[in-house]
Amino acid sequence: MTTYSPPLEGRSEKPYLLLDFNERTVEPGLKVKEALKDFVEQGRLRVYPEYGDLEEKIALYAGVENNQAIATNGADQAIDIICRSHLGEGDKVIIPSPSFPMYGQSALCQAAVILEPPYKQDGSFPIDEVLEMLNKEGRVRLVILCNPNNPLGATIKLEALEKILQLAQEKEIAVLHDEAYFEFSGLTAKNLIVKYDNLYIVRTFAKAFGLVATRIGYALSQEANLRELLKIRGPYDVNMFAKTAVLAALSDTGYVADYVSEVMGKAKPRLEKFLAGKGIFFFPSSANFLFLPMRDAKGAAEALRQQNILVRPKKGPENQEGLRISIGEEKDIAKLISAFDSLPLDIFGAK
Ligand code: PMP
Repeated sequence: MTTYSPPLEGRSEKPYLLLDFNERTVEPGLKVKEALKDFVEQGRLRVYPEYGDLEEKIALYAGVENNQAIATNGADQAIDIICRSHLGEGDKVIIPSPSFPMYGQSALCQAAVILEPPYKQDGSFPIDEVLEMLNKEGRVRLVILCNPNNPLGATIKLEALEKILQLAQEKEIAVLHDEAYFEFSGLTAKNLIVKYDNLYIVRTFAKAFGLVATRIGYALSQEANLRELLKIRGPYDVNMFAKTAVLAALSDTGYVADYVSEVMGKAKPRLEKFLAGKGIFFFPSSANFLFLPMRDAKGAAEALRQQNILVRPKKGPENQEGLRISIGEEKDIAKLISAFDSLPLDIFGAK
């Protein structure tokens, strides 16, 4: 395997408009910053973390029972400990492709074999292929579903998810449902936790909450499953900045709701209208980003960088080149639109 090295360096050098990592384009609420400053002032940096009722508060926010949530060091750690608890050498994991690269990293660390049923050319989820693999392949131990999909933004309907969960449950296969973009999509399988003992949901405070630098996410599942995960997660893997920031954010989530309605209600429709007006194709997305097939994605990303806007070249269905563009506030999208206007139209669209 190789390292996953996303292009992080140099992002803060210039006042770039950062539309490359699906982050918030604005800071989290003031309460969060004040809580962090207070924490530093309390002089407890030298003391190991104590979590108090952090996980109860997360469970309350997520709308599950108290014992159905655990905090992790980013959603990445939740993904990793689920892979570590379910995959051994030669076991198979189904990861419909394209998808979030860290799934593959964690699975390969376990020397697992990755099966990648491809998303359809129109961006739809390959439900029949996944069910067929579950039926036909031996030694499948885990299915990882990114809903909405990163980088496409495409959703998996809950009926399709339930079909997978049912068949997987019969075969004692775990299903990881990644809801990293839940606040934007409103899509969740949390009501299915009670019914399916093979379901894990993974979420993050990195995106809509804007706490990515503190590194905190969480897993939701039946208590017995989480108890197993806790044998792998270390007792202080979540740091105190993360705990402090999350408790402050959860005490007043208005700043999250405001951002989500700005992004999904104003900025995204504005960008979609612009693209449709120009006849530029994009995949329908339920998240805070759009995927645009491009003839020369790297060239287009570089042209935008010249205008101080960062976006991410990514591969779409059937390895189609494209740009994944995060959506920020409406004023950010206005900047992006005027930058797009300066690019030649034939740079857009499939090769
Ligand atoms: N899942 C998906 C689908 C993501 O896009 C991301 C972040 N890019 C993560 C998980 C990881 O989130 P975190 O930063 O909390 O580790």
